[in-house]
Amino acid sequence: MTLAGKSKVTGIARDLLNLLLEAGRSSHPREFAALLRAEGGVITDVLLVPGTTSNETSARLILSNMPLDPSIVGSVHSHPVHDLRYSAADLDMFGSKGAYNIIVAYPYTERDWICYGPRGLRIDLPVVDQGAAG
Ligand code: ZN
Repeated sequence: MTLAGKSKVTGIARDLLNLLLEAGRSSHPREFAALLRAEGGVITDVLLVPGTTSNETSARLILSNMPLDPSIVGSVHSHPVHDLRYSAADLDMFGSKGAYNIIVAYPYTERDWICYGPRGLRIDLPVVDQGAAG
């Protein structure tokens, strides 16, 4: 019994954030896109989208074809430029993919990410240390 999908997300696991930044780095100068899953109110998992992609448009198209899973709370994609602002196309995707939409941007340090709500409002998402169990 869970409240998956409806429960409020209170943070993102530091391990996952590091993984997302690393994915940005290793995809650079291409972009990557993926879906985010939460467990117990914390974003802990990334659902990598197969076949990603050489540009943002195709990343978005693949995401829009993904089935919706109740544990999916949003999306993540990378910007190979040092710019955390969303595009109009990003905003369309945010609205369809969930409440929490992360952009990681070059040079992919711990400061180079941001989380937006479905309408493009910035969300302050706390980074949660969950211990080194995994
Ligand atoms: Zn974008």
